[in-house]
Amino acid sequence: MSASSDVAVRIALPTEDQDVAALRRAIVAKLAYSVGKDPIVATEHDWFMATALAVRDRIVDAWFPTTRTIYTEKPKRVYYLSVEFLIGRLLYDSLNALGLAETMRKALAELGVDLEVLREVEPDAALGNGGLGRLAACFMESMASLGIAGYGYGIRYDHGMFRQKIKDGWQSELPETWLAGGNPWEFERPDVVYHISYGGSVEARETPEGEIRHIWHPAETVEAVAYDTPMVGWRGKHVNTLRLWSARAPDPLRLDAFNRGDHLGALASQSRAQAISQVLYPADDSPAGQELRLRQEHFFSSAALQDIVRRHLHQHGDLKTLPDHVAIQLNDTHPAISIAEMMRLLIDNHGVEWDDAWDVCRRTFNYTNHTLLPEALEHWPVPLMERMLPRHMQIIYLINARHLDELRAKGALSEAEIGAVSLIEESGARQVRMGWLSFIGSHRVNGVSALHTDLMRQTVFAPLHRLYPDRIVNKTNGITFRRWLMEANPGLTQLLADTVGSAVLDNTERLADFAAYADDAGVQERFRAIRREHKAQLSGLIHRRLGVKVDPDAMFDTHIKRIHEYKRQLLNILETVALYDAMRAQPTRNWTPRVKIFAGKAAASYQNAKLVIKLINDVANVVNNDPTLRGLLKVVFLPNYNVSLAEAVIPASDLSEQISTAGMEASGTGNMKFALNGALTIGTLDGANVEIKDRVGDDNIFIFGLEAHEVEQRRREGFGTEEIIRRSPMIQQVLDQIGSGGFSPAEPNLYSHILDGLVRHDHFLVLGDFQSYAEKQREVAAKWRDPAAWWRSAILNTAHMGFFSSDRTIRDYAEEIWGVPVKPA
Ligand SMILES: *Cc1c(COP(=O)(O)O)cnc(C)c1O
Repeated sequence: MSASSDVAVRIALPTEDQDVAALRRAIVAKLAYSVGKDPIVATEHDWFMATALAVRDRIVDAWFPTTRTIYTEKPKRVYYLSVEFLIGRLLYDSLNALGLAETMRKALAELGVDLEVLREVEPDAALGNGGLGRLAACFMESMASLGIAGYGYGIRYDHGMFRQKIKDGWQSELPETWLAGGNPWEFERPDVVYHISYGGSVEARETPEGEIRHIWHPAETVEAVAYDTPMVGWRGKHVNTLRLWSARAPDPLRLDAFNRGDHLGALASQSRAQAISQVLYPADDSPAGQELRLRQEHFFSSAALQDIVRRHLHQHGDLKTLPDHVAIQLNDTHPAISIAEMMRLLIDNHGVEWDDAWDVCRRTFNYTNHTLLPEALEHWPVPLMERMLPRHMQIIYLINARHLDELRAKGALSEAEIGAVSLIEESGARQVRMGWLSFIGSHRVNGVSALHTDLMRQTVFAPLHRLYPDRIVNKTNGITFRRWLMEANPGLTQLLADTVGSAVLDNTERLADFAAYADDAGVQERFRAIRREHKAQLSGLIHRRLGVKVDPDAMFDTHIKRIHEYKRQLLNILETVALYDAMRAQPTRNWTPRVKIFAGKAAASYQNAKLVIKLINDVANVVNNDPTLRGLLKVVFLPNYNVSLAEAVIPASDLSEQISTAGMEASGTGNMKFALNGALTIGTLDGANVEIKDRVGDDNIFIFGLEAHEVEQRRREGFGTEEIIRRSPMIQQVLDQIGSGGFSPAEPNLYSHILDGLVRHDHFLVLGDFQSYAEKQREVAAKWRDPAAWWRSAILNTAHMGFFSSDRTIRDYAEEIWGVPVKPA
C-alpha cells in the first residue's frame, strides 16, 4: 500500500533537512560495492538491498553507542525468549523510526526509484504463526523505544510461515523463502557459536571430597551460530539486538565416507543438524508433538542461556548475582526447558549448589501463558525426554521431588491434590507438564488479558494458584503504534497530529484528546476520506489478486486471523449466507452494501479449518456471480495473510470481526489494531475485547453472544441445538442450503461433516451464538446508515486505544515483573 507522501513530510519535520544527497550517494555506493551492480542493470530487488544496507548503516551508528552504554552502565538486562518472531518488513519501519522516510523518498526519486515500490519488494520476515509471534515483534520494538536493555532470542528459520495459495477454493502450502534474495538486516556472527547436545548418558562420579558430580556424555552435538538483527526504537535513539540461532553440524562432512564414494552418508549429520533450524512449525496452538520440535526448543534455549551466562560472568563474575542483573521472559512454554538447562549449567558446569541454583532460577525466569486450550498445553512424553535430554530429565525429577516434598511438609494438600500439581502427569502415558515447570521455576507468571488471567487462576492453574497466590499477574497485550498506526495509516496519523498535536507520536496517552472531536463534522469527514482512500487502494488489490470488483463505498467487514474453530470464521460465513438469502428474498429493502473480507492460514494438518476456507471460497463464488444482488454483497478470501497484508487491510476496514467463542481467545491483538484505526468491533466478551469495550464504551462497540461462564454451562448441560434449529427458519435454511450442495454442486456432501458436527456437539457455540450474532449484524447495518453516528464511534475508538500500546504493556512488565527502569513518557 502506498502511503500518501505529503502527510509524512510534515510528521518528519525535525529531520526534513537531512542530507538527501548523502543518502543518495550512500545508496549508489552500496549498490556498487556491496550488491555489485551497475545502476543501469540494477533490478528493483538490487535497489532494495542497496537501500536497506544504507539504512542499516544509520542504525548501526546508533547501535554501538547503545551497546557501549549498556556495557558501561550495566543496567539490568531483559532477555525475551520466543520460538516465534513475526516481524514483517523492516525497510519502512526503520525509516520511520529514524525519521528518514521522506529524505529517503527524495533521495530515491533522484535516482529514478520509487520508495513505495521498494517497500513492496521486501519479503516479510515471517518467523511466526500469528499473535504470539507478532507480540514478540511488537515487544522488541517497544523495549527499544523505551530504552530497555532488551535482547530477543529465537530461531533463524530458513523457511518461515508457509506461503498460502488457494486452488479451486482449497488451501495449499508452499515453502516460504525469505532468505533467497539475501537478508540485508542481519549480521552473521561466526565467532558466536555454542555447542548444543542431545542424547547419550549421564555418569555420576564421586569427587575426592565425596560429592557426586553428574557428567553428561551426549550422543550428538550440534552448533548454534548467532545472527544479529538490530532492533531500532522510535526516534532511533536506542537500538537493541535480536539474536537468532542457526544450526549446523560441527564437521561439515565426513571426508572418509565421501572419499569412499558415500556422498549422501558423508553429509548425513550435517542435514540432521541443519534440520533443526530449517522450518517453523506451522501450528500456532497445538503442540507439534514431534521430536524435532523438542530439538528446536532445546536448541535455542540452550544457546540463549549459554550466551546469557557467558555475558553475565564476563560482566559481573558471579552467577549468584544473576537475578540482580538479568530477567528472562519465557514467551509461552516453548522455551520452558530453559529452566532445567539453567540448573544444569549452574550445577554441572559452574559448581553452584542445588538450592542456590534453584533460587537463581526462581528469581530470574518469568513465564507468559498464551492459551488455556488443553490440546495446546505442552506435554512431553517422559521416554522421549529421557532419550533426548537425559540430564534434564533427571533435573526435572529432582525439581519435582523437592516441590512435592515441600508441599507435603506443609501438609497443605491431599495425595490427589499433589498429583494435580506434580510436574509429571501420571495418568496414562507419563508426560512432563511444561506449563507446570514454567510456573514452578518462575518469579512471575502472567496472562495476556484481564479475562484470560482470571480464567488461568480459576481453571487450568487453579491448584498452583492456591499454593502461590501472588505469582499470577495480568499483563494485557499491546501493539506498537509505530507500525500499526503511523506506518499503516499515515493519513490518520496526520489527522491526529493536526487535532491533538504531534506530541501524540511520542505519548500515546495523548490520543485521548481526540475524543473531543467526536462530533466535529469536519474531523468526521476527514476520517471518512482517509478510510475511503485506503478502501480504494484495497479494492485495487482485491481486483488484482482475485479478479473481483468491490465497491469502496460499501461497508468493509473484515475477519482476518489464523483459521481456527474457536475464532469462528464458520459463524461469520454462515451468517453471510443468511444475509445473502435475505437479500434475495427481499431485494427492495434498503440493504447496507457490504464486502465480507476474509484472510488467514490454516495449519496444514487442520482439516476442519481447511474446509472452512473452502466453504468461504465456495460461497464467494456463488455470491459474487449472482446478478440479482446488484453488487450489494461481495465475499473475498485474500490469500497468504501476513503482517504486510494486515497493514493494507486494517486501515481499509470499517468493521472488525472479533467473534471467538467466549473464554477461548487469550487476548487477541488484531482487535487492537482495528480499533486503533477506527474500525468498529463486532465481538464477544472474550480476551481483550472486554477491555476494549470498557474503554470505548457500550455505544461504540457491538457486543453479542454467550459469556465465558455461559459457554461452560452449555458444555456441561447441553447445547440444545435441535431446539435452536427448530425455532429458526433462517438457520434451517442456511444449514439445508450448504448441506445439500447449494455452494458445492459438484460435491453436495462436502460440508455435511462440519454441519453434522455443529448439530451433534456445538463445542464452539456456532449455533448457540448464531441468532445473537445475526441480530447484532442488523444493528451494525443500521448504524452504518447513520454516518454521523458511525464516524463519531470511529473517532472514539481511536481515541480510547492509548492503553493498548505495547509501550504501556512493556512499562508494566518492566515495573512489576522485570524490575528494570524505563525511559519516562
Ligand atoms: C496481529 C496479527 C495476528 C494476531 O491476530 P488475532 O486477530 O489477534 O488473532 C496474526 N497474524 C498477523 C499477521 C498479525 O499481524
